[in-house]
Amino acid sequence: MNEGFNRLLKYDFSGLGCWLTLIAFALLAGSVGLGWIINGFVILIVLSLLAPVVIFWVAKWWLKSNFIQDQCPVCDYEFTGFKNTEFQCPSCSEPLQIREGEFSRITPPGTIDVDAIDVSAQQIEN
Ligand SMILES: [Zn+2]
Repeated sequence: MNEGFNRLLKYDFSGLGCWLTLIAFALLAGSVGLGWIINGFVILIVLSLLAPVVIFWVAKWWLKSNFIQDQCPVCDYEFTGFKNTEFQCPSCSEPLQIREGEFSRITPPGTIDVDAIDVSAQQIEN
């Protein structure tokens, strides 16, 4: 266990040495007049660290503002719909769209679907 701790300590020191080398190199390069390279490098590192965070927050905001969770007005099945598109309820396959932040039927209430006419025609034949 002691040996493992020593190894860990050694590893930490080697990591620190690496950083010290980097800092020494940065100071040296800065004194020689290559400060702009170091600045560019640092900016690049900071950007590459910040970019995933920024992308994550933008994506989260975008998803929140474009996906609406609501209940189907026909069968009350709750699911998530995408704004500005027409979609179907996964439960009853009613065509829906988002209006004022809520799911609403594309076909106005009272409209008889072609499918419904087919069903009634079959009923008459029977
Ligand atoms: Zn439905």
